[in-house]
Amino acid sequence: MTARNAMNLDANVQSDGANTSDDVVRVAEAALPTRFGQFRTVVFRVRGHSTEIAALLHDEGTKAAPLVRLHSECLTGDTFGSLRCDCGEQLDAALQLVAETRHGILLYLRQEGRGIGLANKVRAYALQDRGLDTVDANIALGLPVDGRDYKAAAAVLRFLGVSELRLLTNNPAKADALERHGLHVIELVSLAIRPNPNNAGYLATKVSRMGHLMQPRGGDEQAEPEPDPQ
Ligand SMILES: [Zn+2]
Repeated sequence: MTARNAMNLDANVQSDGANTSDDVVRVAEAALPTRFGQFRTVVFRVRGHSTEIAALLHDEGTKAAPLVRLHSECLTGDTFGSLRCDCGEQLDAALQLVAETRHGILLYLRQEGRGIGLANKVRAYALQDRGLDTVDANIALGLPVDGRDYKAAAAVLRFLGVSELRLLTNNPAKADALERHGLHVIELVSLAIRPNPNNAGYLATKVSRMGHLMQPRGGDEQAEPEPDPQ
């Protein structure tokens, strides 16, 4: 495998600003200062993938494998501040860590509700309010427990010159998916989010039924906040 970890931000830029490979088109980019630090945002289209992928890049030009977060869209958590899940906090923590390492990429993937879409996710919430967990609610609706796909994300990472990476996730299935698409995940970096009374059950289900590694700490009973390991 070619060790080519420096992010390829400038290759093949055409006069109209587009940047193409067989499957990936870089359609727009600009500086994006955020409350976490200075990023560049790049918008990609990928053949066979119905939505655009936004990347936030922080690159100090080191050759080490970049820290990468594949963040799946969660309107309620990312934007509305929902406490039913940990997505918004994970997004914030991921951007903070990428900015701190100064060599990383966050890809924002438009696969709401683990791929079932916003309306179905809210339908599943209604079932969860009647006692089902996040897995059984999806099954009751005849929907996949996790319908996400990382092929397009892998194509964007390869386009950016990434072959090896450190993956910011509690979900080993994401690393397995990237490996299947030809990328080498050399480390899993966990994202520890402190549970709240609304999402403690959801976080526990991700560990007990979906193979996530991070054991939620405390939950409803937590008395003393502990420092996050990251
Ligand atoms: Zn969420």
